[in-house]
Amino acid sequence: MIYDRIILRLGEITVKGRNRGRFEKRLLEQVVEALKSFPRAKATATYGRIYVELNGEAYEPIRDRLKDVFGLSSFSPAKRADSELESIRDAALAIMRSYPDVPRTFKVTVKRAWKQFPHTSHEMNHLVGAHVLRATPNLKVDVHRPDVELHVDIQPEGTYLYCEAVPGAGGFPYGTNGKAILLLSGGIDSPVAGWMAMRKGLELEAVHFHSYPFTSEQAKDKVVELARRLAYYGGGSLKLHLVPFTDIQTALVRFNKEHLLITLMRRAMLRIAERIADRRKAGAIVTGDSLGQVASQTLGSMNVIGRTTSLPLLRPLVMMDKLEIIRMAERIGTYETSILPYEDCCTLFQPKSPSTNPNLNVVERIESSMPELDGMIAAAVDGTETIAVEYGSGGKVGDLEESWF
Ligand code: ATP
Ligand code: MG
Repeated sequence: MIYDRIILRLGEITVKGRNRGRFEKRLLEQVVEALKSFPRAKATATYGRIYVELNGEAYEPIRDRLKDVFGLSSFSPAKRADSELESIRDAALAIMRSYPDVPRTFKVTVKRAWKQFPHTSHEMNHLVGAHVLRATPNLKVDVHRPDVELHVDIQPEGTYLYCEAVPGAGGFPYGTNGKAILLLSGGIDSPVAGWMAMRKGLELEAVHFHSYPFTSEQAKDKVVELARRLAYYGGGSLKLHLVPFTDIQTALVRFNKEHLLITLMRRAMLRIAERIADRRKAGAIVTGDSLGQVASQTLGSMNVIGRTTSLPLLRPLVMMDKLEIIRMAERIGTYETSILPYEDCCTLFQPKSPSTNPNLNVVERIESSMPELDGMIAAAVDGTETIAVEYGSGGKVGDLEESWF
């Protein structure tokens, strides 16, 4: 392997002038966390950039891991040389010779960030290019469409040579834009919504409602597995709050307003989520709703359901097609788990003809005719069990945390 390090480029961060320092620090932490299983690799921040020294670690698995770190716009495997002509020329030639199939054309692009360097970038293009050409018989220069573009980046502490830029995941470093509560079902959509929220820099804690014993232990395992996958994207661990929803659900079913059941259940879920958000100091609730997908996701339903909370309701998938969502689920590695057959609490009590346009007054009247509802919501919050789901803990899911109430 010719390359000895990786140059990481920061994404959206650059537009946020004042926060830059904080974002960079957070990104470095996330990169360090992502490289945990590559003990020899060493990440350092220098002059607003992050470099990963490979120190003998293989590049490809690190590349694959870095692709999933939010806040990186792109990165490049690179070779370091001293900022001195001969050393740069040697490195350039070594890189061009490292291709198993010798490229036919190339081009050198020099950036001289260190202005004390004795040659201008224009001179350097020639000095480096000519050296490589002399030593590589069949190679030619093509400034318009070269097979390989060799970048030479001259910095005071060293010069970095690279040819390739791998696209990063983009977004903001995990946790730099505040905290939100993700309503995580066992379905396809909500993990994708969670991933999108994380990419925007939101730290997440997940909330799942279960109706044990109507829902099985496997249904819970499935949600834990999804949370584990999300933990992979968010610094390695994610809190999952498991809320007992059986009593509320049973009470709402008993009320016998079948067409409004889903509306009432969703409102109860949001009220609980809001309380959890309060306690966990989260400023928003994220759901996997996608406009028009099911009865509870029509504009009318979203309106009546959403009014139960004053927190911002973030619905990253609202304008996406199901097929796009499925493709994303596959890409982020949640799809296979999401399609496992275990039912969640809502599908179990799915009414035959749910209302697509519930009436807010009617819904509120029903709720106020259930004085026990407030107490049940408080009880569900109190009965919530929290687990810290760890990614990569060799199958172990993490320990039951002390109750945080
Ligand atoms: P998903 O694929 O995420 O399950 P869906 O298309 O099945 O979504 P619904 O079942 O109507 O749609 O759920 C809409 C959203 O409500 C979900 O994306 C999720 O955010 C939240 N939600 C539904 N059921 C639960 C649950 N049991 N626990 C936590 N959140 C839930
Ligand atoms: Mg669902």
